[in-house]
Amino acid sequence: MTAPSEISASQARSTPNFADDENMDIFGVRVDNIDEDKAFGLLHGYMVDRSSDSGARSVYFTNVHSIHLSQKDPSLRRFISRADLALADGSGVSIAGKMAGNPIKANLNGTDLLPKLFGDCEDRGWTVYLFGAEERVLKLCLDQLAGRFPGLKIVGSHHGYVSEDTESMVIDEIKELKPDMLLVALGSPRQESWIDRHASGLPVGICFAVGGLFDFMSGEKQRAPNWMRRFGIEWLYRLAIEPKGKWDRTFVEMPLFLTRVFLARFAPQFVTDFINRRIQTH
Ligand code: UDP
Repeated sequence: MTAPSEISASQARSTPNFADDENMDIFGVRVDNIDEDKAFGLLHGYMVDRSSDSGARSVYFTNVHSIHLSQKDPSLRRFISRADLALADGSGVSIAGKMAGNPIKANLNGTDLLPKLFGDCEDRGWTVYLFGAEERVLKLCLDQLAGRFPGLKIVGSHHGYVSEDTESMVIDEIKELKPDMLLVALGSPRQESWIDRHASGLPVGICFAVGGLFDFMSGEKQRAPNWMRRFGIEWLYRLAIEPKGKWDRTFVEMPLFLTRVFLARFAPQFVTDFINRRIQTH
């Protein structure tokens, strides 16, 4: 539970009014268990109510990988607890919710959610800045976005392999352009750490931590077919296409997570921190 003294003014401002069953954490990592309508309502509200002197809102996606990293790196857990929204991402989190008797209301992963928001951006004229991924991938992503969302106003972009000096230039550019949405794709926990450090000083509507979104949108990485996504086995598809370095997410992180979830359900004496209902702790 976050001590009141740790809650900054901007966090107090941002805490949405969640019902008890919407306040969750899984192994100590925050998950806002809300449905798609509520998520879009909050996101639209953040964009409409943005004010240049209160800094940017922060939106993250809690998945098995971020829960795994948070066990090793408590600062990631802290960044997530301080976000304006931490949406439920992926089938591992859904399984955990079911096992805890608090089913996840919607899988709100960034790869599905952001394209829907781009449509809203086209309708309402909201502007977007893309920061992250390899330069080549980012260019492909921009091409794809221009084809899919011709009315989307992308006011700027920069790849994510930057020196400190270049990073300052990127920040200056973002401050000048004041986009409504800033998508940060630097991988976890770097992107959450970056947003946690900079959001309060950025005249931006929402900063999203989007992980590998640009790799998917560029076509560089393929998403699983719809039927696999419906059955919650996209991870199996990713296993086949991921580069070697990422296999541990499927072979180590997911089995470890599921074992811990099953132990928590059937032998809770071994697992004390499974899922808690958090009431106004962030
Ligand atoms: N990335 C980056 N700069 C870095 C490290 C990573 O821009 O210093 C990009 C990388 O090219 C990729 C994204 O961050 O596009 C990370 O994708 P991943 O699927 O690993 O995200 P995660 O699931 O770890 O959040």
